[in-house]
Amino acid sequence: MGLPIVHHLPKRGLLIGGAWDEAASGRRFQTINPATEQPITSVAEADAADVDRAVRSARHAVDDGPWSRMTGAERGRILTAFALRVEANRERFVTLEALDAGKPLAATRRQDVPAAIDCLAYYAGWADKIHGDVVPARADALTYVTRRPVGVVAAITPWNFPLMNAVWKIAPALAAGCSVVLKPAELTPLSALLLGELALESGLPPGALNIVPGFGTVAGQALIEHPGVDKISFTGSPAVGKHIMATAARDCKHVTLELGGKSPNIVFADADVQAAASASASGIFFNAGQVCSAGSRLFVARAVHDRFLDLFIRRAGQLKLGDPFDPATTMGPVISAKQRDRVLDYVDQGVREGAVLISGGREEEARLGYFVQPTVFAGVDNVMTIAREEIFGPVAAVLPFDEPEEAIAAANDSPFSLAAAVWTRDVTHAHRAADRLRAGTVWINTYGPTDARLPWGGMGGDSGVGRDLGRAALDNYTESKTVWLSLRN
Ligand code: NAP
Ligand code: MG
Repeated sequence: MGLPIVHHLPKRGLLIGGAWDEAASGRRFQTINPATEQPITSVAEADAADVDRAVRSARHAVDDGPWSRMTGAERGRILTAFALRVEANRERFVTLEALDAGKPLAATRRQDVPAAIDCLAYYAGWADKIHGDVVPARADALTYVTRRPVGVVAAITPWNFPLMNAVWKIAPALAAGCSVVLKPAELTPLSALLLGELALESGLPPGALNIVPGFGTVAGQALIEHPGVDKISFTGSPAVGKHIMATAARDCKHVTLELGGKSPNIVFADADVQAAASASASGIFFNAGQVCSAGSRLFVARAVHDRFLDLFIRRAGQLKLGDPFDPATTMGPVISAKQRDRVLDYVDQGVREGAVLISGGREEEARLGYFVQPTVFAGVDNVMTIAREEIFGPVAAVLPFDEPEEAIAAANDSPFSLAAAVWTRDVTHAHRAADRLRAGTVWINTYGPTDARLPWGGMGGDSGVGRDLGRAALDNYTESKTVWLSLRN
């Protein structure tokens, strides 16, 4: 196992008002390496008192501090510098995500880190292009609409893509001129802390970005209840998302919720089966299945079902589970013992409900760490628990179908609506399916790519509301203001 490289570790305090500090309580919590089950280090643990300080500092930054007086061009320059610093510290992020989240080095190098840099650079470009309109409503008035930062943003993120999820929120919020209080997941606080360090080095003024590691029910809860917060941007589970929306209703805070998924991946009879099998395996097994848009429900046309399944299982069998620091590793551990047990419980449930366990389904024995084998169920019915609930682990459910209509209807029969994919060589059929699938993103003949320029989010229900990324995310962090100047006399 790769040893923790101490000099790679970032500061491990709370970032409040541009300075690093201990929690008022003096408490710290440990963060664990999921590949070894050993503690990596400890991090300051925020509670309500610290959150209050962080929100006040964010309030000051956005109401009357230097951040509120900067032009969009100045904010853009800082965000560009920030993107360049993240780029210069690439390998530190790769190491931290491997240590803290169990992510294989190659995956973070290829995906998370470039996506984070690109996202920062993309929103750096927006910072001086956020503007309103002159709307000639009346002859006797000059009427115009400006876009103002929404104010203090509470960003609450999960553990599956710790760096990327933080940047998806921080970058557009800062570009829009908001200030941020970030609460990273308690299981993976380290990459967010390095982001904080680099943000300060990039010239971000005090209070524009505050970071309060800690527990959801304490630090997170204090943040969502705080009257000084204007907007909550949350990525995480449907249960916590709904609780946040209800809490935010007390004082009508703005809310964006990126929640779960049970994404359908439909392989039609005319698909390139080889390509579909290979991408679909990555679609469910990438990041050990801990992906909100994991292609966990695989609808496969009966005509190609057996061939597809054969290729798909072969792909699953080629995955190399192991030490995230080993360059040959293609699948790391799941994040915690709790997550491992949850995944294995779902496997048991699948077997009990009559699905056919084709491969995997067990913990990888004889090694420390929370390793779950890539698991494939065939003969799944869309009413079974493993087809309805989000497992958030490396478990694929394969569901055969006869008619395309039947597949689309079953795909849409789900509480989730985040993403979907179709595989077909018929372009008309592809677009028709894309139109009919209830999902915020539909992939055709590919699975899983996202891009900072393209909006990302669910269409309600257990996938949440609102959009991260793209121009759309700027709407999360700005509000219009109408100004009416009378031209009479
Ligand atoms: P989670 O338990 O909902 O946690 C997410 C974040 O919310 C963590 O920082 C957590 O703190 C915090 N939290 C928990 N209770 C809170 C409360 N009462 N008030 C405020 N914050 C609170 O989710 P998770 O288990 O970490 O992540 C897995 C889920 O996230 C899955 O359902 C997955 O689909 C979803 N997800 C969605 C997307 C997307 O883009 N749609 C992306 C990634 C993940 P702790 O540190 O204490 O946990
Ligand atoms: Mg950890």
